[in-house]
Amino acid sequence: MRALRLTAWGEPPEQADVERPVPRGAQVLVRVEATGLCHSDLHVIDAAPGALPYRLPFTLGHEVAGRAAALGPDADGVAVGEPVVLYGPWGCGACGRCAVGWDNYCDRRDTLRWHGAGLGRDGGMAEYVLVPSARHLAPAGDLTAEQTAPLSDAGLTSYHAVAGLRPALGEGATAVVIGIGGLGHLAVQILRATTACRVLAVDVREDALALADRSGADFGTLMRADTAGVLRTRGGGAGADAVLDFVGTPETLELATGILRPGGEVAVVGSGGGRLTVSKPGVLPPGFRLSLPFWGPRPQLAEVVALARSGALRVETERFPLSAAPEAIERLRRGRVRGRAVLVPD
Ligand code: NAD
Ligand code: ZN
Ligand code: ZN
Repeated sequence: MRALRLTAWGEPPEQADVERPVPRGAQVLVRVEATGLCHSDLHVIDAAPGALPYRLPFTLGHEVAGRAAALGPDADGVAVGEPVVLYGPWGCGACGRCAVGWDNYCDRRDTLRWHGAGLGRDGGMAEYVLVPSARHLAPAGDLTAEQTAPLSDAGLTSYHAVAGLRPALGEGATAVVIGIGGLGHLAVQILRATTACRVLAVDVREDALALADRSGADFGTLMRADTAGVLRTRGGGAGADAVLDFVGTPETLELATGILRPGGEVAVVGSGGGRLTVSKPGVLPPGFRLSLPFWGPRPQLAEVVALARSGALRVETERFPLSAAPEAIERLRRGRVRGRAVLVPD
């Protein structure tokens, strides 16, 4: 079968022909129908040797939807032909966190050579993907694979980040979303659907602000020298109750902390490498809280799929055949993808 493999750090991934896996034990073989291309795939491809614990080569693709195609002799909980979406964070499967479906925060994370499907283990940029157990699959229902694949990371990660902030985001509160790409446009929709707060959006691209508007943001503005002042005025003057930073560079972290209301929280999701210095006394607002959400727990994948099935979420996608993955990667690199690029086996 065709697969997009990372074979060397810092080199473009390669189209390869690999053997179609055969499920053993509790494993499930999934025929891939769609796989999202995440900005994290670029961070992985570009990583310096030794920066990530993964062994090469492996097949990329951590945002996957398809149909169960074959079951190992001990697999249960899924039927052949059933449409499914992958729960991508694979932990050790044995610790307390994994036992309750919080594999994204596995206690043995530091001892594993992977973070999940397509992240150190063979993922979904292929015709088939082997899943360790049916507990890593959620029913996709009647949604198309192109819609459900991005829910498994862009949707789940955004949902998990918003879930942690929800108590602070009642009527009259303000949330700021920085970076309206694959994750950010879903974060805007999830804030709209699950909170009563005002939603302000920031990006460096006009077309991303148009996407924020279509996603239900109350206001969008370009990243400029006066952005903090503009956001403060639009937010009613007091500052933001929560900022979701889907970029994470020094520039966006400065904006995020600069527009925060006392007692507010910044959730840094983007892996832009920016740093924050915490000191007391210092410039951070009193009561400042910071979170670093990573992906999301399994029960929240079912919740975000249910939200999409209710009609509250619409993933904006650009479809590419799997054979055109290099072009999709190049477009994402140049900031030319609107919403989420989705690869479909051809
Ligand atoms: P994306 O490329 O689809 O979207 C990023 C958006 O940010 C784009 O619209 C871009 O124009 C905008 N942007 C870039 N620089 C900006 C700046 N200085 N100010 C404002 N906007 C700016 O990326 P994505 O797939 O949505 O991923 C976003 C980030 O989140 C990446 O760093 C990715 O690695 C990370 N990520 C983290 C997790 C996690 O679990 N923590 C999960 C998935 C992705
Ligand atoms: Zn991702
Ligand atoms: Zn674990």
